[in-house]
Amino acid sequence: MTQPKHSLFAQHAYLPDGWRRNVLFEWDAAGMLTSVAPDTAVAPRGVEQAAGPLLPGMPNLHSHAFQRAMAGLTEYRANATDNFWSWRDLMYRFAARISPDVLGAVAQWLYIEMLKAGYTSVCEFHYVHHTPDGHRYTNPAEMAQRVVEAASTSGIGMTMLPVLYQYSGFGSRAPREDQQRFINSPDSLLDLLGALRTARPESNAIRYGVAPHSLRAVSEQSLHALLGGIHASAPVHIHIAEQTAEVDACVETEGARPVQWLLDRFDVDSRWCLVHATHVDANETLALARSGAVAGLCLTTEANLGDGIFPAQDYLDANGRIGVGSDSHIGVDWRAELRLLEYGQRLTRRQRNVLASARATYVADRLFDAALDGGAQATGRAVGALQAGRRADWLVLDPDHSSIAEHAPNAWLSGVVFCEHGETPIRDVYAGGVKVVENRRHRDEEGAYARYRVALADLLK
Ligand code: ZN
Repeated sequence: MTQPKHSLFAQHAYLPDGWRRNVLFEWDAAGMLTSVAPDTAVAPRGVEQAAGPLLPGMPNLHSHAFQRAMAGLTEYRANATDNFWSWRDLMYRFAARISPDVLGAVAQWLYIEMLKAGYTSVCEFHYVHHTPDGHRYTNPAEMAQRVVEAASTSGIGMTMLPVLYQYSGFGSRAPREDQQRFINSPDSLLDLLGALRTARPESNAIRYGVAPHSLRAVSEQSLHALLGGIHASAPVHIHIAEQTAEVDACVETEGARPVQWLLDRFDVDSRWCLVHATHVDANETLALARSGAVAGLCLTTEANLGDGIFPAQDYLDANGRIGVGSDSHIGVDWRAELRLLEYGQRLTRRQRNVLASARATYVADRLFDAALDGGAQATGRAVGALQAGRRADWLVLDPDHSSIAEHAPNAWLSGVVFCEHGETPIRDVYAGGVKVVENRRHRDEEGAYARYRVALADLLK
């Protein structure tokens, strides 16, 4: 009997109904799973065997690729009240120096780091559109295309979300000098989207959506204009309530808190992702959960920037949807995001296993499932589960790693998420059916890292 060309046998795999034994995977030339068959009696002859247990690849729902180059460079006190806003000034100075070549090299290295960490999709919230003095590049999509190409070369799936950025604050305040690289209009953003689609049409590897930057950077009218110009199912991501100063300014000028304001005026549903819904009151928490939108949580960045703690327990108990993102890339590891999500609750409440539920008593399993589902929803792509019809994205755990060795399968996710003892337990990673990471090395690792170092040296000189 001849076997299909694209197949893999795994002794253990985490399917939508939990850990299953002896699973045969088949996928097509486009990288989409065509069959997932548990309880296959023996490994068919000629079919490759996975080196360890399989987990679905995790979507990363929030990334600003260029910020990877400044990770670790702002960890000193610059003034007496160092906070998010002083960090943002440093970030703007950094953004002013990014060229298309540098952005491409940084993004490619970042996406390789993501794949090695087990992120197989990324939602790129892309806002550095123009030349440093605010003019358009000859090709207005130059910067965004470098990021799209970096994703394609690395193998990671992408949802490209070009950003609408018009104002520097509530009340349509004029943009600042150091925001000129970001500034556009709904019309110019829709043109940019059209150019991106022409250069690389949508496929199972790439989807396009939009990202109104935040309520402080767009108006109600421009947000309506933007949404009117895209397909009704296209993903929409927005920074919503990361800072208390932003919430206060919204209340003062608009008469409502940001999440409430948005829910009252727009048809916020499952295609929306509200990034950093950190500061929500009890009513907003329940209303956001009911909307079907995803709350985009970026715990390591939110901790790094001193943002605050999202009311995760109440929101999850109301069946709210979540996903995780590495955002500023101070860390690129979904395991750390999930761990910190739980630890923020433990430290605040002085309890353990806070984010477990009566039905899901293992915290890591509940959070992994939630971040997979919500993350996949935020990408707008067919990912996030090991089942036919989804992209063939998974990671292979090292069965000999100390975080899972000798443990029963029902403890594996706990070990993967909560244990931190040296090298990652993630051994191999497949994206679109292609093994892009083998034995903890990406296929382009050396060359991409060398190019990243050259780009970083150029940026920092
Ligand atoms: Zn962000």
